[in-house]
Amino acid sequence: MDGNVFVTKEFEEKYTYEGKDLGAVYSKENTTFKVWAPTASSVSVCLYTKGSSAETGDKFINEYEMTLGDKGVYTKVVDGDLDGVYYIYKVTVDGVTRETCDVYAKASGVNSLRSMVIDLSRTNPEGWENDKHITFPLEETEIWEVHVGDFSNDISSGIKPEHRGKFLAFTDDTSTLNGDGVHPTCVNYLKQLGITHVHLLPSYDYGSIDETKENENINWGYDPVNYNVPEGSYSTNPFDGAVRIKEFKEMVMALHKAGISVVMDVVYNHTYSLDSVFEKTVPGYYYRQDENGKYTDGSACGNDTASDREMYRRYMIDSVMYWANEYHIDGFRFDLMGLHDVETMNQIREAVNTIPECGKEMIIYGEPWSAGPSGFREGATPATKKAINELAEGIAVFNDDIRDAVKGPFCDLEVPGYVNGKEDMENDVMQVIPAGFAEDFGVQPSNPSKVINYVSAHDNSTLWDKLIDSVLMDDSYTVRNERLVKMNKLAATIVQFAKGIPFMQAGEEGARTKFGEDNSYNMSKKINNIDWARMYEYEDMIDYYKGLIAIRKEYPQIKSLTSESLDDIIFNETGIPGVVAFENGDLTFIYNASDKDVSADMHIHGKYLIDSGNIDLSASKDVEDIITVKSISATVILS
Ligand code: CA
Repeated sequence: MDGNVFVTKEFEEKYTYEGKDLGAVYSKENTTFKVWAPTASSVSVCLYTKGSSAETGDKFINEYEMTLGDKGVYTKVVDGDLDGVYYIYKVTVDGVTRETCDVYAKASGVNSLRSMVIDLSRTNPEGWENDKHITFPLEETEIWEVHVGDFSNDISSGIKPEHRGKFLAFTDDTSTLNGDGVHPTCVNYLKQLGITHVHLLPSYDYGSIDETKENENINWGYDPVNYNVPEGSYSTNPFDGAVRIKEFKEMVMALHKAGISVVMDVVYNHTYSLDSVFEKTVPGYYYRQDENGKYTDGSACGNDTASDREMYRRYMIDSVMYWANEYHIDGFRFDLMGLHDVETMNQIREAVNTIPECGKEMIIYGEPWSAGPSGFREGATPATKKAINELAEGIAVFNDDIRDAVKGPFCDLEVPGYVNGKEDMENDVMQVIPAGFAEDFGVQPSNPSKVINYVSAHDNSTLWDKLIDSVLMDDSYTVRNERLVKMNKLAATIVQFAKGIPFMQAGEEGARTKFGEDNSYNMSKKINNIDWARMYEYEDMIDYYKGLIAIRKEYPQIKSLTSESLDDIIFNETGIPGVVAFENGDLTFIYNASDKDVSADMHIHGKYLIDSGNIDLSASKDVEDIITVKSISATVILS
């Protein structure tokens, strides 16, 4: 069907279903199956004992015709206790019958071949009834972004072999480097780092990893199959659909016990392929088409979903609320948010706000761009940087301008930025410190609560690798490493003390490397793993990050995210190449990215919080008349 039919008023009035009961709704007495399939001429549901025909003991149980009711919803009530029964739908549209899993599936068999009916109450781990959302004031938020597998796949994690790379690695409260009992790893490590939020790369069910075997390689998981089901390869038993649900909850509970909020990366903008539950259930509805009926490609995956169509918008809202309520997820990061429309994002924010007690404190942020143009319906506004002022309070966007100003562009690996030696970058840095975007973009937000500041994320090179690639050095290994550490520290200082919400890729604080690979999304575990032994080789830098986080937390003028707080930032024109200096209340910041130590009589009195890259939280050392800031370092003075 021509996709444009789906955005007509007639279609929306006739077929927008507002019920909250799509999918398989379980009770001990019966299960109600409901599918929204307005273009189907018939739908039936088939029940099986196992998640795939390849499994021993798999039996076909029965097939039931479903009945078409209001708004294009097909229904069938099947008597009996169906907990653990697997199912698929047969949907006939225009004479073609397709077998599909359930768009609204809550559980799935191995590799998403069949959906599963689940009694969710039995997936709750012991103590779950006492588990609560953990939230923080936005201004105290420190986000640490990690892939479930990378976190513990390496033997150095000290996690027991059967939990490595799995959700359950997060539950190991004795994890130390190779089990040495001294150097904490994984969640034990995070407890003392000072971060507040663990942001998990996609952890819903995705398609690129064969769940039936051990894999050499990981995948980042930006290829969604079942949005409301945890990924099977992160569970200890992907064949039983209940296990991954329980283990996911155990992970969340363990992070909550450690006082850490859990953010989930959600990728509603495209699916693994067009051979999806959506396309098989209502062909053409869930994806955008251009005027010729061709599926648009703003996701670079050939299938942009249509948040601007009513039933997919509802789906996104329902899905977010399901993760928040059923799994106690505390925040969401939207992949390619620029492919969603502002209205949908604002409705999601509004829905999350209604979660009792903590809804308003739950964090929402996204990538305010897309990989290309998409087929938005007329009147819809893409949720890009340009629309930052139209996005509701409580939706933040990644600032790629601070990322690129500080360390250089992600695409040209050899091109440096401010900390790694590019000249004339002082103005760019001064622009992004007060939550600003680059001048040429023309957006000057004055609301730091809407800005995520960062210099590294899973995409592209790690910060460390970017520094290596962009700096020519003939020095010995030791001299070179010392210099890279200084650059890394200066970059982190700028991020932590800029206006906005700090974010980092897991291990940035410990010189994480992917051996020069940038787009490592499907590469080996060895390349992607966090190497905890290597992290401890850079313990001094980890301590520096801890210090930065502690300082940020201590000083309201740094962490405050009000627009008014921007007025407290006053830049000093030093005229010294590579130097950026500013005051913020009773703090003076001097960043020196140049190759030379710089000295100046600043006419200020006070004590050093940071003296040329050395943090002293007690600020015990007095400032002399002449202040010297060593090459590639930051100094912060408390007056
Ligand atoms: Ca999967």
